[in-house]
Amino acid sequence: TPRRHAELLDDLNGAQREAVTHHGAPLLVVAGAGSGKTRVLTRRIAYLLAERHVHPGQILAITFTNKAAAEMRDRVNEMVGRRANAMWVSTFHSMCVRILRREAKTLDLTSNFSIYDSDDTKRLITLVARDLDIDPKRYPARTLAIHISNLKNELIDADGAASQAANDLERRVAEVYAEYQRRLIQAKAMDFDDLIMRTVELLQVFPDVAEYYRRRFRHVMVDEYQDTNHAQYTLVRELVGIETTESGVPPAELCVVGDADQSIYAFRGATIRNIEEFERDFTDARTILLEQNYRSTQTILSAANAVIARNPNRRDKRLWTDSGDGEKIVGYVADNDHDEAAFVAGEIDALADKGVANYSDVAVFYRTNNQSRVFEEIFIRLGLPYKVVGGVRFYERREVKDMLAYLRVLANPEDTVSLRRVLNVPKRGIGDRAEAVVATYAERERISFAQALRVAATGDMPLMNPRSGKAITGFVELLDGLRELVDDGQEVADVLESVLDRTGYRTELEESDDPQDASRVENLTELVTVAREFTEFTVEVAAAIANDENAELVEDDDAGVPAPGSLPAFLERVSLVADADSIPDPDGGDDADDAGVVTLMTVHTAKGLEYPVVFCTGWEDGIFPHMRALGDPTELAEERRLAYVAITRARERLYLSRAMTRSAWGQPMNNPASRFFDEIPAELIDWRREEPVSRAFGGTGNFGSPRVATTWGSKQRSESTGFGAAPNKNWKDTVALKLEVGDRVSHDKYGLGTVLSCDGTGPRATATIDFGGSGKVRLMLIGSVPMVKL
Ligand code: ATP
Ligand code: MG
Repeated sequence: TPRRHAELLDDLNGAQREAVTHHGAPLLVVAGAGSGKTRVLTRRIAYLLAERHVHPGQILAITFTNKAAAEMRDRVNEMVGRRANAMWVSTFHSMCVRILRREAKTLDLTSNFSIYDSDDTKRLITLVARDLDIDPKRYPARTLAIHISNLKNELIDADGAASQAANDLERRVAEVYAEYQRRLIQAKAMDFDDLIMRTVELLQVFPDVAEYYRRRFRHVMVDEYQDTNHAQYTLVRELVGIETTESGVPPAELCVVGDADQSIYAFRGATIRNIEEFERDFTDARTILLEQNYRSTQTILSAANAVIARNPNRRDKRLWTDSGDGEKIVGYVADNDHDEAAFVAGEIDALADKGVANYSDVAVFYRTNNQSRVFEEIFIRLGLPYKVVGGVRFYERREVKDMLAYLRVLANPEDTVSLRRVLNVPKRGIGDRAEAVVATYAERERISFAQALRVAATGDMPLMNPRSGKAITGFVELLDGLRELVDDGQEVADVLESVLDRTGYRTELEESDDPQDASRVENLTELVTVAREFTEFTVEVAAAIANDENAELVEDDDAGVPAPGSLPAFLERVSLVADADSIPDPDGGDDADDAGVVTLMTVHTAKGLEYPVVFCTGWEDGIFPHMRALGDPTELAEERRLAYVAITRARERLYLSRAMTRSAWGQPMNNPASRFFDEIPAELIDWRREEPVSRAFGGTGNFGSPRVATTWGSKQRSESTGFGAAPNKNWKDTVALKLEVGDRVSHDKYGLGTVLSCDGTGPRATATIDFGGSGKVRLMLIGSVPMVKL
């Protein structure tokens, strides 16, 4: 039953009500985060249907993500019932696909044209550039792709690009653009930018088509208008129309909502000009400002306002709330990224135990996708249910699986599945046919695939083409060589590095122009870090156990347990994590008592969403703000808007954390505190932990819950063996130990050692020390270190 007029407007403030009931001229609603912009749009749709008797088919609502579209449709359904299904609620891209498939004939396209994603696009541009003899060193495909995309976002075609080209790069871009476009058409394909650009073209070149859509969509609404680019703006304008057409169709009603302070897609050509010049673009336009925030506590709002106020050239907004101060923001300084994740996990657990929040009330944000790994691991270990939004789970990533398959084959030569996975990865000339010949031979001779492969390597396999045979010989030799490293007792991380190098896997990714491949390299680096920490930590644990009087607290049931730090131990460890990883998403069920799952995502993905509890992590200069923004005011302003978006997602509780040391590229990296911390008034933050305590790298002393005491070892170990435990009374105080490479030291736990490397200075100083039998250990050198220089 549709809600009555009064009810639809009841829980809105005056300005919101005005926006919902506004009739006629184009309307812009500008307001800060959480002021009910999206609620206005949703309510306006419901109002149009229920009170103005608009047919649902006449409504077009554009959102930024598919998730937001689904949410908006749901909310409207709740208010007016199923008939809302006839409206179009979608993203720009899916709306354009729908229009283009419908109008394919007009544009001389087949309606089943393919859509090229950025991966396909990059590949095609690489081919085109090669054929045009363009030097890939000077003009990498990635650069060309970005320029072409920017041109398309500005609705400039290849001819336009050629005539405005003012330098060599621009001329090259124009040349590639023309040929790239020719091949797209030949392949009956469009890239993402084409979807918008061709739709604009369709509406501009064919007035009858434009009129059809104008008659059809009498109401057009756009959420997150600050993130539209020029092409999208033009598309909206063409759909809505500026003047009444010759056959008497007046412009459609337009309502857009946005917040210039939340513009975070400049890198995709988004321009807040679209907000700033709305009143000029659309005659008689009205602007309504919303000033009351309904989402967050005053504390959270004050923090957000203070940060964004640092941006130059912005219109100041007066955003207020009557929801009271609420809790203080919790600040936390962790020793390293693992401790940061452990703190977050422990805190979530505590909130759930106290009944303060369900898991589904909590979101954890980070700046870039690869930061999710540390959180995923600890959440899995703790059994904290979670989901990662936007981004494949770490151990499901193709490149990670490929590398683990190599390691499995090295550990177990008979592992057929892994062997066949990497047989031709990277491509080495062992095609499907060769693989089939080996498989058939294995079956006929009743030997394993691996054994058959060895036969093929000797050149004695019937039906095997000699070139493939040679490739197989090379592959078998490659594996044998790598297996020697394992037998020689090399550390897992070093073996992994050799696999990456000797197979050519890394080089292939590094030489690729596809930005996805760059993130693959990052993920592999992350995997090397995992392996490196695994070895260091199990060695640390083993050494600690050997030296600890409480060693008997550790279960000694180690029959069949792989040696600490060994390749099989690593693989076992990873399989457990990966297996737990594939547990079906508990969010999928609609069990009423389901406490739900914690959401992990990047700040970009969080736009428009809200959570009672938000953890903003990695607040470090170089992480957030991102490294590339440190010397660039424009980029820094964009990072600050991103911080504003992050903070304003929180309703009741906000946590801001950073790590003193973070593993990156297999190396520790010491980042200073994010400058955004200083921009928040000090009285708003309650520092739960401001100074790191001294202890061995990777320690567990501060984990929020005793359950976390299980760490990288294959065994459970008691808290008393942890490095964060109270120091032994005979530990000497050696404040700020100064060390140099080559120094000899004596450590109370590890014994004699030699300094291999020193990193960081002052409170961030660490040293990696070879303690011989006790292994290599990385130690923080601040506070009291149980070690003396000899
Ligand atoms: P963002 O800028 O982050 O996209 P927004 O301006 O779109 O935020 P909404 O998401 O629409 O804000 O609203 C924020 C929260 O405030 C929502 O939980 C919404 O239901 C609530 N809200 C909005 N207006 C009112 C109101 N008049 N009374 C009560 N709650 C409201
Ligand atoms: Mg919104």
